Amino acid sequence: MPQTIMELPGKCTGCGACYGVCKEKAIRYQLNEKGFYEAELNEERCIRCGQCARVCYKNPVNRGSYDLRQIKEVYAAQSREKRVVKQSTSGGIAYELAKQVLLNGGRVMGTGYNYESRRAETVIIDHPEQLKSLQGSKYLQSNTADNIQRLISEMEKDKERNYIVFGTPCQIFGISKAAEMKHFRDRMLLVEVFCHGVPSYLLWDNYLSDQEKAGKISYKVNKVSFRDKRYGWGIYTLSVHSANKTVYSTSDSCDFYKVYFDHIALHEACFQCNLRKYESSADIRLGDFWGPRYANRKDGISAVVILSERGYNLWNQVHSKLAIYGKHKISECINYQSTHNYYVNNSQMKLFYQLINENRLSLKSIRRQYRKGFSRKKRMVLFLKDLVSQLPIPIKVLLKKVLNRLNYKGKISDEG
Ligand SMILES: Cc1cc2nc3c(=O)[nH]c(=O)nc-3n(C[C@H](O)[C@H](O)[C@H](O)COP(=O)(O)OP(=O)(O)OC[C@H]3O[C@@H](n4cnc5c(N)ncnc54)[C@H](O)[C@@H]3O)c2cc1C
Ligand code: SF4
Ligand code: SF4
Ligand code: SF4
Repeated sequence: MPQTIMELPGKCTGCGACYGVCKEKAIRYQLNEKGFYEAELNEERCIRCGQCARVCYKNPVNRGSYDLRQIKEVYAAQSREKRVVKQSTSGGIAYELAKQVLLNGGRVMGTGYNYESRRAETVIIDHPEQLKSLQGSKYLQSNTADNIQRLISEMEKDKERNYIVFGTPCQIFGISKAAEMKHFRDRMLLVEVFCHGVPSYLLWDNYLSDQEKAGKISYKVNKVSFRDKRYGWGIYTLSVHSANKTVYSTSDSCDFYKVYFDHIALHEACFQCNLRKYESSADIRLGDFWGPRYANRKDGISAVVILSERGYNLWNQVHSKLAIYGKHKISECINYQSTHNYYVNNSQMKLFYQLINENRLSLKSIRRQYRKGFSRKKRMVLFLKDLVSQLPIPIKVLLKKVLNRLNYKGKISDEG
């Protein structure tokens, strides 16, 4: 039986659960040279108690509680408050679930963005006013370490309080295993998101520094939205606001998004991640309801998959706050999610990290370099996409509508 995380095979997801349960402070949790949070063992402090290995996803004996393919239905829903929908990534369901738990006297753990460190960070809140900071996906790996420890110690001390925790499936997996080990899983409501994967902080830092050098923003950024709805829900728009300047970039013309979607700067654990696919330890999974049925909505519709009895209880409590558009077959949602393995182009990935660490080229130039190693067909598709990205935004929005119509023609089943 493996005793420590270092004896386990596979890639560390950076969930932070081992750091949270280790009482000996024998685990370091920090950014690695590729710009990802990762756990590392400090052999000198380790007493080989085995607690870290018991909560780790890399441990082959640890598996999720649910297989999404066995679930039959998915809800399409939205908060009834327009303001909430506007500030949220899809339909604002995360906000409504969290608010309900606060009203019930519980606390919320989720991810905010730290404007000083320029990092996504896990935070714990206990007042509805603070919910704003959690709204909106930060397409970055959140630093979980300190608040996972705090969560565990609060739950051990205060045995009456319930918590709702939001995170990527790997973070939720680690927290659920830690909660099971500590016997407080029944006081937790775990909510995970459908997950595309997380990109390196080297990408994010370089994106911000390119924008600064181009004079588009100043150093002190005061608001970031990865899914600004300025041009509608389906048009991924990154907005970065600084003192007197704001830059809005749609994904087809945004250097951050282009590299993210090229999968060259993704966390290695994300390439063949079963949690991104079907395995789950959550009570609820949330996502964007992509696919034909709501493709032309501008405001945002969430996909809500309820996995457990506990999940249903909370769902029933928030019903009156929501507009529920339908209950559909699960395939209508997961067929349009990233549930396949990603192809790893090792030599191009190596080139990307080499160039980004040299810190002399802009992201655009780095992209040009590594894309030279892509297949001819892929380069042609990307070239056409780059051409389309030059079009004015209203034309791109119209074009997307037409493409959706063509792509999805006849694909909506009448059942559900
Ligand atoms: C890295 C990442 C990748 C995603 N990939 C997909 C995808 O491929 N398909 C899809 O349908 N949906 C994906 N989502 C989820 C989607 O963006 C929405 O979060 C989801 O639709 C719920 O929307 P909402 O309006 O209810 O809540 P939102 O306003 O989006 O709030 C969602 C919750 O997510 C938490 N959160 C925000 N950023 C992070 C982070 N970096 N790490 C952990 N938790 C975070 C917050 O605490 C908040 O409570 C992803 C989210 C993240 C963070
Ligand atoms: S518990 Fe999470 S952070 Fe720790 S080694 Fe395992 S995957 Fe990495
Ligand atoms: S084996 Fe025990 S002491 Fe060693 S790192 Fe894991 S939890 Fe900490
Ligand atoms: S793809 Fe998997 S490993 Fe990567 S962030 Fe998502 S759940 Fe974690």
